[in-house]
Parts: sequence; structure tokens; C-alpha cells
Amino acid sequence: MGKLRQIAIYGKGGIGKSTTTQNLTAGLATELNKEILVVGCDPKADSTRLLLGGLHQKTVLDTVRDNRQGITLENLVKTGFGGIRCVESGGPEPGVGCAGRGIINSIDMLENLGAYTEDLDYVFYDVLGDVVCGGFAMPIREGKAKEIYIVASGEMMALYAANNISKGVQKYASRGDVRLGGIICNSRNVDHETDLLRAFAKALGTQLIYFVPRNNVVQHAEIHRQTVIQYRPESGQAEEYRQLAKAIDENDMFVVPTPISQDELEKLLLDYGMMELDDDYRI
Ligand code: ADP
Ligand code: MG
Repeated sequence: MGKLRQIAIYGKGGIGKSTTTQNLTAGLATELNKEILVVGCDPKADSTRLLLGGLHQKTVLDTVRDNRQGITLENLVKTGFGGIRCVESGGPEPGVGCAGRGIINSIDMLENLGAYTEDLDYVFYDVLGDVVCGGFAMPIREGKAKEIYIVASGEMMALYAANNISKGVQKYASRGDVRLGGIICNSRNVDHETDLLRAFAKALGTQLIYFVPRNNVVQHAEIHRQTVIQYRPESGQAEEYRQLAKAIDENDMFVVPTPISQDELEKLLLDYGMMELDDDYRI
């Protein structure tokens, strides 16, 4: 049995963190036989919906609030597709309290109840937020997740968020052993997206670890409350997620990122993203 790898997935809201995490873990479980725990760290509590077939997962915080139900591992952890263990940490009511607190309380509780069993190969934290700050830095700050991946696309705001996140990672990496494992591009079909993301990753001292194409089968699977790997295992998109799983499993490039300035970021966008701008605007 290998050493437990604890991985946090960050990226701009709506970029595809939860979709990518669930499909990636489905790939790790079915293709590489890995034992996995997914911890949703978003008050939306939708990090494990596709793995659990839409089964409404009672969050850790809800279970704690509703103290009629015992706080047991069985009540907090549900087993989903591919034997993947699923937890949602939940959050406070919107506008009330600190969502990050819930995350760290949940992780502590899971540890105390023995959720981090010996046979686990991976724990994934699907964390919301454009920046690694306050509560949302908890999985990193508390030394749980040692490996970070940032989901991004060629859109400016996604890259802007990714650069900000890398600033947070840099801060924690410089005083601990957390490292950036790479950028996952979840494509938005932006012009020259692969080249742009490659250049962006290089500027940050990291790698573009995988390019996930945009495909409608993701929405179809989502409507059926399934990962693409379960819904259409023979599809090209399922194969992409299996390849992503392999790339993560075989990754050996872990760095302290070197965030870039806003000017450098804008220059990258000009160099790669807008090569055809003049032509497009001619008519
Ligand atoms: P996040 O967790 O980062 O907020 P989600 O994983 O919820 O984002 O994804 C947002 C939406 O984007 C979802 O409705 C999902 O179906 C869609 N999506 C994600 N990845 C892809 C993809 N590769 N192709 C098509 N749609 C995608
Ligand atoms: Mg999400």
C-alpha cells in the first residue's frame, strides 16, 4: 500500500472543481483501484452529488446541529460510485458565521472518528473560493492537504483567480511542505487555450498537468446525477478523465509556485489569447 496523498483542489467558482474532482476520483477508483475519501469543503455541499447518485448528503455541520442523530462515521460518510467515501462539511447559513470554521471542525471530527483509515490512498478536498485565505486555507494551513491542484481555463478571470490562489499556496509552501502539483485546464474553448495555459503554468513554475476538453456529455451525466465515467464509460470524455487520473497518480512535479504580476498576466493574454483579434474585428 502506498502512502496517503491528501490533495486540495482550488479554482474560481463555477470553473468545474466539483465536476473534475468527482470524475477524476471515479477514474482513480475504477481504473487504478484506489481507495479514496472526498471531502466537500463548500457550503453548497455539491461536491459529492455525482458520486452519490444525487442522494442528499447530510453535512457534517447539519449533523452536529441536529444533535438528535448520533455523530458517527456511518452518519457522516456515505459510500458512492467506485467505493469512493464521500463527506460534505457543509457551512453556516448564508451571511452568518465563518464557512471556513466548518471545514476545519469537520476535518477534525472525521479524524477523531477514524475516517482516515490505513487503506486510503487519497483524500481529496474540493474547496470553494477564488483566494486561499481565512477558512478556505484550512486544509492547507492545518497541514492536511500537501498537494494542490488549481483548475483554470483560458478565460481571464479564471487565470486571475488561479494566480491569486498560487499566491496563497506560495505563502504556505514557503513555511511548510505544501506544494503545487499543477494546473488542470478545464476548457472553455478559448482560442489557443492549451498554449496559453502552458505558458501560464510555466510562468508560475509549475506544469499544465492535463487539458480536459469541454463536452456536453458532462451536462448529460450531471442531469443523470452521475460522473461521465459511470454514465458513458466508453465516451471520449470518460477516457480524458481516466487519463487525468493517471497523470495525477504519476505526478512527480511539486513546486513552490511563483505567482506573476497583473501586468505579466495581461501580457500572456495578449500574446496567446488575442492573436486573431485584429482579424476578427476587421469586418
Ligand atoms: P465548481 O465546483 O468549480 O463551482 P462545477 O464543477 O460545479 O464548478 O461546474 C460548473 C458547471 O460546469 C457544471 O454545471 C458542470 O456541468 C459544467 N462543467 C464542468 N466541467 C465541464 C466540462 N469539461 N465540459 C462541460 N461542462 C462542464
Ligand atoms: Mg463546486
